[in-house]
Parts: sequence; structure tokens; C-alpha cells
Amino acid sequence: MALNPMALDLSGKKYANVAYEEKERLFDEVKADDRWHHVLYGCYECGICVAACPSARFYDFSPRVIAQAAAREDVDLMYTLMNDSVWDCSQCFSCDRCPRQNSPGQIITIMREVAVKNGLKTAKEALEGYGRIIYKIMSTGSQVSPDMLQPNAFPDWGGHVKEISDNLDVWRKALPPETLHTTETGWKITDKTIVELYLIWHMTGVMKLIEGVDEGLFMILVDVMEERLEEAGYDDISFD
Ligand code: SF4
Ligand code: SF4
Repeated sequence: MALNPMALDLSGKKYANVAYEEKERLFDEVKADDRWHHVLYGCYECGICVAACPSARFYDFSPRVIAQAAAREDVDLMYTLMNDSVWDCSQCFSCDRCPRQNSPGQIITIMREVAVKNGLKTAKEALEGYGRIIYKIMSTGSQVSPDMLQPNAFPDWGGHVKEISDNLDVWRKALPPETLHTTETGWKITDKTIVELYLIWHMTGVMKLIEGVDEGLFMILVDVMEERLEEAGYDDISFD
């Protein structure tokens, strides 16, 4: 049988050059999260989470392996999974039907956050393709906007995409709710709302996370956000 080049290597060899103390430090950071004691209560190894997991159908990925490694406190394996597995989860939380009351999806959320906070190379690589979406959300407060509907970005959507993108403002103005008469955002977002979002992202450390994975994107966002915050009277907010 041919070997699958995408197969997950759980042997620990791939990260043998990383000091055990460093792997342990990251696992300790995962366990120190306030949510930790509400997402893992041991594991029956029953596999119900795997049966419910959509990502397990398409990738060499298993929420059971992650829950087991966490329950057994397998430091080496947790490090491998934090690098090579957690980004395959689609965060749907179907695995919450675990009979042990575990939430493998939330274990993964915590592991991802620790990976990002510590600037792991694998986390940066996994998030590389999302820069455009992050920029859109952070600069406008809306994830997908009509002006992203461009023929070159979506060639498989057919010829009508060009016609719609050429006359986007006309199409949007034909929609009954006035809040949808926008092209740069999914709907109208008031200055008050966007400023509140900026303050939340600043105070909850979201900006620090972005700086850790993509410094260039961080700097662009800071420019946009500082200007809007200053206009709203928050000229003492600093992203340094
Ligand atoms: S995490 Fe829960 S559902 Fe998954 S194998 Fe362990 S006990 Fe079963
Ligand atoms: S949250 Fe992740 S691990 Fe859980 S079922 Fe969804 S994809 Fe699978």
C-alpha cells in the first residue's frame, strides 16, 4: 500500500529537535487556561467524537487522539498535535456529544490560541491565507463583503459573476433593506459599532495575537484603527 504523504506523523520524530522543556511549557500554558477544567474530564476512548467529526472524514485527523493525548498528559504528542493537527478542525463542536462531557473542539481552541500567542511557525503558515479576511473583518467589522465578489477570485462561479461585479452598487440598491445598500461591507455598520469592536479587540488581546502571526497585517490594521479611534476621541489608545 502506498504511504499517504499527508499522513500525520505521531511518532514524535518530526519534532525531536525541540527541547522537551519547551513542549512542556506550551502544554502548561494550555492547562493554565481558565477553560481547561471544563473541557476535559478524561477519555473513554469510545470514538464517538470521531464519528461525529466532519474533519475526521476528510483529513488524517482525530479528536479522540487529541483528547487522549491531553488526558494522558503526553507532552511530546501534544506538541506534535498543536503543530500538525489542530488547524484541521473546523470548530463545529459536533464532538461536544462526548459521553465523558469533554469538548475536543474547545481543547483544540485553547491549543490554537497558545500556538498563535507563542508565534509557532505552523500557526503562521496555517493562518497565512486568511490575511484578506482578517483585514476585512478588522477594518470594516464585516467578514465577507459584496465587493469581494470578483471574477478573478471566483472563476468557478460562472460568467454571471462578472455581470454582477460590474454593476454591484445597482444590484445592492435593489435590495429592500436599506442596511444592505453597501458594497464595501456586508451591511451598514455604524461608526459607534466599529469603534466598540476596535476597543474590544484591543482590550481582549486580539491585536497582540494578530501581531504574533502577521506583523505586516498588524501594522496596516493599526493605521486604520488608530485613525478611527482618534476621530472618536480615543486618542490615548496605544497598540504598542
Ligand atoms: S473524547 Fe469523548 S467521545 Fe471522544 S473518545 Fe474520548 S470519551 Fe469518547
Ligand atoms: S469541533 Fe473540530 S474536532 Fe470537534 S467535531 Fe468539529 S471539526 Fe471535529
